[in-house]
Amino acid sequence: MKFKKTLFAGIAAIVGASTLLGSNIASAQKDWPTKPIALVVPFAAGGPTDTIARLIAVPMGQALGQTVVVENTAGAGGTIASTKVARAAPDGYTIYIHHMGMATAQALYDKLPYDPMNSFEYIGQVADVPMVLLGKKDLPANNFKELEAYIKANGSKVTMANAGPGAVSQLCGLLFQSRMGVRLTNIPYKGTGPALTDLLGGQVDLLCDQTTQTIPYIKDGRVKAFGTTTMKRLPAIPNVPTLNEQGLKGFEVKVWHGVYAPKGTPQPILDKINAALKKALSSPDVVKRLQDANIDIAPMAKVSAKGLKDHLESEINVWGPVIRKANIPD
Ligand code: ASP
Repeated sequence: MKFKKTLFAGIAAIVGASTLLGSNIASAQKDWPTKPIALVVPFAAGGPTDTIARLIAVPMGQALGQTVVVENTAGAGGTIASTKVARAAPDGYTIYIHHMGMATAQALYDKLPYDPMNSFEYIGQVADVPMVLLGKKDLPANNFKELEAYIKANGSKVTMANAGPGAVSQLCGLLFQSRMGVRLTNIPYKGTGPALTDLLGGQVDLLCDQTTQTIPYIKDGRVKAFGTTTMKRLPAIPNVPTLNEQGLKGFEVKVWHGVYAPKGTPQPILDKINAALKKALSSPDVVKRLQDANIDIAPMAKVSAKGLKDHLESEINVWGPVIRKANIPD
């Protein structure tokens, strides 16, 4: 009898505590956010991913009523940040922006400490960004034909910057080398922000980078542009031919981005982040800045968990075979 009474009291206490816990969680979700939110960027400051992150952070923060603070966790082509976010508390105070490296890393690394399809919550696609093959101003080659000849003559003396294994600059650079049948000296940086600084300074010869902040440098001749990774020429730089039209048939890399959260982040919080992202992507400042760089904002239907997760899955299926076929080393 005594045992029964104690048992009932125990159960009542547990039920009471869990109801309290449940209501605490519910009110934490309802009140969220009550402090600044970290938007993790997997590359160094000043690069394309960082630029897009900083651009959307402000209007997202305004929509949420809290500051969204960009946190650069660079290294290993973005995989260090992905690992960190996969292990972060799923409380809505850590969110993550990454590009298509989320889809390509699996094929470039033997083993990843996270699973792109299962370690995250998917908030929505952001934007698709074209790339351009760039050279330093003093490179003797002035066009793609001359670049081909220069590379053939100089081989591994030619240096090419990238943002590490798993970064799209590395993917683009190695696909280029694979198509050209050459192996250059590849130099990893923590992002294409610092890589571009070295290209501008003449410390490195080539870099395949996104248009996010390269267009002004191309236009004023501070870097040479040898070709875009698009099927059509870009309106912002119409004189730059595509790599496709210069003999690298089908050479197409468009860098899509997505916003994620750690797995287990509550749905009401994910819904608020999604609404803030949609708002940010419709803000006139953001739209203008992205359009000027020939960046396509994702259609609103794709700024959704399903839009991002489906796209990620299809990109893993597209890039896996391409990377394996190109025999890209890690
Ligand atoms: N987008 C670059 C890359 O993957 C990295 C960066 O954003 O800094 O190469």
